Amino acid sequence: MKTIAVVEDNPDNRLLVRVILEPLYEVTEYENGFAALAGLAQQPPDLVLLDISLPEMDGAEVLRRLRAEERFRKLPVIALTAHAMAGDREKYLAAGFDDYVTKPIVDETLLLKAIQKQLAAPTAPLAVAPPEVAALERLRQLGGDQFAGEMIRLFLDFTNTKLAEAKVALAAGDGPGVARAAHPIKSSAGNVGASRVQALAARLEHAAKATPAASLARLVAELEDAFAAVRPQLEAEQQRLQRRPA
Ligand code: MN
Repeated sequence: MKTIAVVEDNPDNRLLVRVILEPLYEVTEYENGFAALAGLAQQPPDLVLLDISLPEMDGAEVLRRLRAEERFRKLPVIALTAHAMAGDREKYLAAGFDDYVTKPIVDETLLLKAIQKQLAAPTAPLAVAPPEVAALERLRQLGGDQFAGEMIRLFLDFTNTKLAEAKVALAAGDGPGVARAAHPIKSSAGNVGASRVQALAARLEHAAKATPAASLARLVAELEDAFAAVRPQLEAEQQRLQRRPA
């Protein structure tokens, strides 16, 4: 699930935006520009909704400071503003915003379309995170190459099985069943450094306990995709480790 950071000082607007976005995105919130700059550096989002009128440091200044950093140069940032005047769009685009949405948000589809347009824009493909070398190295230190390879094989088989169970539970509308299937994937993935699979399994388990099973399909699919992405590298690594003389 992509993450959207909402920088907005009005609590009611933050709540409204959260309710609109939460079924589709992970939402992080910041009340002012300083908190946003600190938080975004720690947890870079996929997109920022940035209020223009903020106390102390306005949205334009927050944007200027973000854009000064190389890694945020292409981060999509949409201005949120109540100052709807002719020529504003051009002004904000010229200032470096990617788009502009006016408040009050009376039609949430306009906000969602603006977001989807940015997130669908062609960007450099995310590199598949390599299984953390450190995790596999630790396993090798603990038990040698054969052992590390066996741990990878167990993770691959186990996750395959648990994902199948999660899908059966999902189809049956069985939320607790989805949570039970997702739970053990976390530690298994953690063992081999498959951090994205680990994080998504944790998120799925959490969501499966809190929301109806019908709304979990997207997360199950994301977990499957993450597993499919990491699988070929781990298979290759397993073969390499187990081919080595003990
Ligand atoms: Mn404001």
